[in-house]
Amino acid sequence: MNCALVTGGSRGIGKAICIKLASLGYHVVINYKSNVAEADDTLKTIREARGSGELLPFDVSSPEEISKTLGLWLDQHKEDTLEVLVNNAGIKDDVLMMWMKDEQWENVLRTNLDSFFYITRLVLNGMLMKRYGRIINVVSLSGQKGLPGQTNYAAAKGGLIAATKALAQEVGRRGITVNAVAPGFIKTDMTQSISEKEMKAIIPVNRFGTPEEVAHAVAFLASPDAGYITGEVISINGGMYS
Ligand code: NAP
Repeated sequence: MNCALVTGGSRGIGKAICIKLASLGYHVVINYKSNVAEADDTLKTIREARGSGELLPFDVSSPEEISKTLGLWLDQHKEDTLEVLVNNAGIKDDVLMMWMKDEQWENVLRTNLDSFFYITRLVLNGMLMKRYGRIINVVSLSGQKGLPGQTNYAAAKGGLIAATKALAQEVGRRGITVNAVAPGFIKTDMTQSISEKEMKAIIPVNRFGTPEEVAHAVAFLASPDAGYITGEVISINGGMYS
């Protein structure tokens, strides 16, 4: 079975990525933290379209949970191939740095950046043995240009962009590509409190993006035909910045 692991697949961008990858024939392993109802809905949508998937909840900010839950899954699926890893789960916790608490810095770094290290290191071994893999990291416009109120989030996503480029150079000769997509403003729970009406004036395409538009780029990078693209960051921001 050809599998794709998508972290944060219960809602928003991750959900759209799960549905898209399932439509391309992958057995999708849907990670999430706590929203069982939304995760069930992702799986239901996949199955209704005759796709294949399963749920694998664990907290990506916990190295212990990653090694226990994902480690066990990998041990139990030695005959399967985990071809695609999408590091998508993320949180933001915006506040001016002056007022930022230790936990706000640490939680955002742990969830958005440390998770990449612990999850990818576990998954990488199988990809190296099979000499094939597609790793796609979901970063952000904030990690490219920085946004005020997001020193924690921008640092995490900027760090993830640099890690993407470094790992791409380590594993390229083994048939593994490592890329990132950098969304701007996408309509999900994360941007619910931001007014599209007010913001669209500064977006050349004049609207927020959809999770499906991000999923489309992820699917492209995940495809076998994208094998000569690595260490790249694709901006999906309606022309705001590149
Ligand atoms: P969202 O709607 O808030 O969904 C977040 C997803 O991540 C949920 O599935 C959630 O699971 C999961 N998650 C959060 N913390 C987790 C943890 N510790 N362990 C496991 N899963 C966890 O967010 P989104 O807008 O789709 O964002 C997805 C990614 O895109 C993030 O990395 C975000 O930084 C990035 N991004 C988003 C935008 C945007 O405009 N929306 C822009 C740039 C970048 P539960 O349902 O269980 O909580």
